[in-house]
Amino acid sequence: TTPGGAKTKEEKIVVTVRLRPLNKKEQLAKDQVAWDCVDDHTIVFKPPPQERAAQPASFVFDKVFGPSSVTEAVYEDGVKNVALSALMGINATIFAYGQTSSGKTYTMRGIAEKAVNDIYNHIINTPERDFTIRISGLEIYNENVRDLLNSDSGRNLKLLDDPEKGTVVEKLVEETASNDQHLRHLISICEAQRQVGETALNDTSSRSHQIIRLTIESTLRENSDCVRSFVASLNFVDLAGSERASQTHADGARLREGCHINLSLMTLTTVIRKLSVGKRSGHIPYRDSKLTRILQHSLGGNARTAIICTLSPALSHVEQSRNTLYFATRAK
Ligand code: ADP
Ligand code: MG
Repeated sequence: TTPGGAKTKEEKIVVTVRLRPLNKKEQLAKDQVAWDCVDDHTIVFKPPPQERAAQPASFVFDKVFGPSSVTEAVYEDGVKNVALSALMGINATIFAYGQTSSGKTYTMRGIAEKAVNDIYNHIINTPERDFTIRISGLEIYNENVRDLLNSDSGRNLKLLDDPEKGTVVEKLVEETASNDQHLRHLISICEAQRQVGETALNDTSSRSHQIIRLTIESTLRENSDCVRSFVASLNFVDLAGSERASQTHADGARLREGCHINLSLMTLTTVIRKLSVGKRSGHIPYRDSKLTRILQHSLGGNARTAIICTLSPALSHVEQSRNTLYFATRAK
């Protein structure tokens, strides 16, 4: 932060937008592509917005990725620097935000995979330091925290306030990865565990948040005069479908179904909006939800944040896509 309190470009939340291709279902339904990435920064609504002329038809970001772009490119452009700052002791969080079936899980899996590769490359190329990597995984569903590495008793875990560490999840299992293979295996256990919940409770993944947290610790070897230790968290957050944050859809039918507004998602959008405004925004309501309490020390302050907003290109989803783009605009 500069003396005046304005955030420098480096410190800003990195916000990118990824538009996926039409999927089979949308193709079969003869749905149309409503959005076009006209250059690396601009996404436009293709059909003339006659009935809604007052709404913007074009949105500009640091980076937009079209339907043919690969996850590698999404990672390299913006996300990578944020992720790797965790190797230098700076907490980092990568979010995937978007409506259900827009590509959050698809994108976040690829991003985590690439980050793990880079982390271990860095370890190999930094022989003067000793690294320890620990992993934990959790899911927040209806403000209940579930351990994704402990399927037996890891349900409805409590959050505790630790004077040193801040908010900690009681009894959350943390495993130490012995190498990159082992770490990938542990990540896949978390993903499989989330799937189990999904079959038991119809469409959990659209309502639940998944956090995979790597804690990366390193110390300088031998030279006892300058024992510099680093420790930081790197969080991969696959959010609940953003339709859960929109009040416009909280009509009677939805409320009866019990899939009304998601407290953690609503609170996160408020926190992100306040952080993006900077210092003058006053009180930041981290404590209002489980998600924001757990992530508090990895958001704002010295932490680095990247948000990948995923979009369905379908005309039938245009309202939700617009909501996602409005969120992305406010987060910049
Ligand atoms: P979400 O997690 O947002 O609900 P998913 O990641 O599960 O959505 O994606 C929905 C479907 O679309 C999946 O079958 C996924 O493989 C596919 N998909 C998502 N993004 C892309 C993409 N960029 N390219 C190709 N297929 C994609
Ligand atoms: Mg998903």
